[in-house]
Amino acid sequence: MKYPKLREIKGAITSLFSKAYTTKFPKKPCIPFRAFRGRPYYYEDKCIGCTACVNVCPTKALNFKDVAENGRAKRVFTVNWDVCIACGQCQLNCVSVEGIMLSNEFDIATTENRKSLIQTIEKEMIFCECCNRAFACKDHLDWTIKKLGALYPPNTTLLTFAQSMLFGKKCYAADKLLKRASRFSILCPDCRRETVFSS
Ligand code: SF4
Ligand code: SF4
Repeated sequence: MKYPKLREIKGAITSLFSKAYTTKFPKKPCIPFRAFRGRPYYYEDKCIGCTACVNVCPTKALNFKDVAENGRAKRVFTVNWDVCIACGQCQLNCVSVEGIMLSNEFDIATTENRKSLIQTIEKEMIFCECCNRAFACKDHLDWTIKKLGALYPPNTTLLTFAQSMLFGKKCYAADKLLKRASRFSILCPDCRRETVFSS
């Protein structure tokens, strides 16, 4: 028979008289440490609707869908907490920095409908004036203009968008024909390419 080493006996006696390392959760609330990664939340007023977070999510817990109806369009984002692994990639790669952030909430197990484990936000989209496709979120263009500062006017989509925001209306009538004159319109990338290369 092997005898325990002195070090192990010392460890056993010490733990007998020291405070327990585990908590009494759920009888008593547990406060996680500061850097704990819990469920992520979208913040609608900070998110610009760029979809970078959706692209980096390894478990497809994040999704988005573009919905157009009655002449309006919106991009609907959802986070499914039941498949989120709290890796933190969405927060790390968020373009606006505070559009999605992890909380320290860990106690999200439920026997209820899984729909209670979903958060949804909506971002207003804008349409291409040539093909009428909703192609970007309004806040995304706004953010890009602020980011570029004095460098944004050469991009005529941003210029037209900024003017329409300033004057509350479109400065140039929507032109359904793709020609060079259409360049001073709010255009999706496909139509912009067409107008640049059309004669
Ligand atoms: S924490 Fe990770 S798994 Fe969860 S939503 Fe963000 S990227 Fe996806
Ligand atoms: S701003 Fe952040 S949270 Fe919003 S779509 Fe882009 S990456 Fe996701």
